[in-house]
Amino acid sequence: MIKTFESVDSLHLTGVKINYFFVCKRKLWLFDRGIQMEQESDRVLLGKLLDESSYPRRKKRRITINDLIAIDIVDEDSIREVKYSQALEKASIMQIGYYLYYLRSLGIEKKGILSYPKLRKSKEVILTEEMVCELEDAIKEIEKLISQPSPPEAVRKPYCKKCAYFEFCFG
Ligand code: SF4
Repeated sequence: MIKTFESVDSLHLTGVKINYFFVCKRKLWLFDRGIQMEQESDRVLLGKLLDESSYPRRKKRRITINDLIAIDIVDEDSIREVKYSQALEKASIMQIGYYLYYLRSLGIEKKGILSYPKLRKSKEVILTEEMVCELEDAIKEIEKLISQPSPPEAVRKPYCKKCAYFEFCFG
């Protein structure tokens, strides 16, 4: 049975925040403090354009729930999240898993599909009990993380150069 969503609402825990938690905890902290540089990244812009142009014939697109969940496409039995590449796929899986988790709390059961239109690939994501535990642990950790007065140290990762905060962290 799903746990309370009090902390999800009070943390304003969006899918993007869940994604960032699995990418980099410093990135999540900075983003949560309103230091938002992603809109300057060409990759993010390209991702948004792909999202808007990839499935023009789908009827139900971009659904937002309680300002927390922004699902790219909703079908009868699935939700679909459109991604530019398979890099950092774990974060994408947990993001769509979080949407499934949130929907389950509202009594809605669906499966998730990660779509990579540029690669002509997709991946099915099912909300397993294991994923629920992982998400609930992540939510607890996020609560601790964003209450910290300063961000975690910048630790260089292979993908830092593609991150919008690169200059901020290492410039
Ligand atoms: S540049 Fe690297 S350390 Fe800094 S926020 Fe981005 S991923 Fe994290």
